[in-house]
Amino acid sequence: MDCIFCQIAAGEISSDIVYQDDKMVAFRDIYPQAPTHLLIIPRKHIPSLTELVEEDALLVGNMVNVANLLAKREGTAESGYRLAINCGEQGGQLVPHLHLHLLAGRQLSPTLG
Ligand code: AMP
Repeated sequence: MDCIFCQIAAGEISSDIVYQDDKMVAFRDIYPQAPTHLLIIPRKHIPSLTELVEEDALLVGNMVNVANLLAKREGTAESGYRLAINCGEQGGQLVPHLHLHLLAGRQLSPTLG
């Protein structure tokens, strides 16, 4: 599997992992766009949002739960944070493995894109 996020999840490529369980891994983005910039990924290789199937619904819910837990751990739950999933080329997705961005620690623009 030459997916970089699968390799991070498997521990084959080093990264700054902040959370992991049997279904999820979260690590710091290598090019952070905010003081806190985490990526929450499922261990299951799902290329993008458009590839989700009904049985993945719980998985996506778990991604949000992990993000909320980490926002609290990072001390940003009260000041606020943003969760974002880029999908496809025009959606700005660069890595073809589903991931949730958690951005926090600075005032984020109210406009998206
Ligand atoms: P996206 O544009 O939504 O696909 O976001 C991909 C994100 O992955 C970008 O913010 C990259 O900075 C980040 N990224 C790429 N490679 C790595 C890596 N090896 N470790 C941590 N973050 C990475």
